[in-house]
Amino acid sequence: MLDTKATETIHQGSIFGQITKMEHEQLVVCYDEATGLKALVGIHNTTLGPALGGTRMWSYASEAEAITDVLRLSRGMTFKNALAGLNLGGGKAVIIGNPQMKSEAYLRRFGKFINGLAGRYVTAEDVNMNTADMEYIAMETRHVTGLPEIKGGSGDPSPVTAYGTYMGMKAAAKKAYGNDSLEGKTIGVQGVGQVGKYLIDYLVKENANVLITDIFEDRLQAIAKKTGATVVDPNLIYDVEMDIYAPCALGATINDDTIGRLKCAVIAGAANNQLKDEEKHGMELLERGIVYAPDFLINAGGVINVGAEYLGDYHRETVYGLTEKIYDTCLSILDKSEKEQISAQRAAMEAAKARIESIGKVKLSF
Ligand code: NAD
Repeated sequence: MLDTKATETIHQGSIFGQITKMEHEQLVVCYDEATGLKALVGIHNTTLGPALGGTRMWSYASEAEAITDVLRLSRGMTFKNALAGLNLGGGKAVIIGNPQMKSEAYLRRFGKFINGLAGRYVTAEDVNMNTADMEYIAMETRHVTGLPEIKGGSGDPSPVTAYGTYMGMKAAAKKAYGNDSLEGKTIGVQGVGQVGKYLIDYLVKENANVLITDIFEDRLQAIAKKTGATVVDPNLIYDVEMDIYAPCALGATINDDTIGRLKCAVIAGAANNQLKDEEKHGMELLERGIVYAPDFLINAGGVINVGAEYLGDYHRETVYGLTEKIYDTCLSILDKSEKEQISAQRAAMEAAKARIESIGKVKLSF
């Protein structure tokens, strides 16, 4: 048993303090001198099933920053997977380093570490990790998903993520305007990367008036030429009149600086962790009458896709069918938020936690 002094230390920001506060099951440290691999795996909650979440490779400024990131990201996966109705828990891995360090040996060593977790954690792509990297990891473990289609995998998850985001956006529009048509709505898409570009296709097809912004000028111009969307300067996107703001680039774009500038009725996009402060900015959106479709709810299409691949039951129609359900889930979360006068973010978190708790009880019986 811990003495009082030890307990105090734990709650003063140590690793165990963070894990206790964020309710993780496990934090795994992986190091290999031969390849220089330094990785962390966060397993947040496995009540619903193996913890699934991608691996992010990043040149973190410090080990503390990497630990915070893996804990935050793995926790987010628990709620995302639960709310998507998946029988998967939440986990995530980070590799500390420059993507140029990647080699066959480096990635296979990482795969070997993942294998050592015996299926408690299943990895996939995230920032700076691609389907080709998953192929190397798969040489050492079967607890990996998101493999290329030519290898029998489900390929790039971004089109499915975009479809789910589109469904969530339509549900939020229904809440705000009484019907879910996006025709004639002015929609600002921030980030025309993998998800953004597919989302824009759905919006253009519905005759929305699409504004686009990105820091990559060439990419922006190419999408504008292809779709007829109007280009907006990245610094001006928060000040433009629009009906719907769709963040599809970075996290934390809804913050003290931007929230008062946004002139929109709806926020619905794919970017992870859009609210800088979940509680504060979530409530502020409610008070300002802006309908917010929680990011981890509406960007779940990608994990629905790789989850189906991992569970060995991949059918594209079923995956799109499950992703389409984001529409109904989003509407029910927005109704709950309105009825209980709690932020949509909190309403979504509560629904995810309720599912984990109730299914956890079911699992207790044999
Ligand atoms: P991506 O890297 O392909 O695209 C992101 C785009 O945002 C890039 O074009 C980049 O230039 C642009 N960008 C970066 N900073 C910007 C800024 N300040 N202003 C405007 N544009 C900026 O990434 P993606 O796969 O399209 O993912 C987009 C977001 O959705 C990310 O937050 C990601 O975590 C999240 N997400 C993606 C998936 C998926 O399936 N790809 C799934 C769930 C969540």
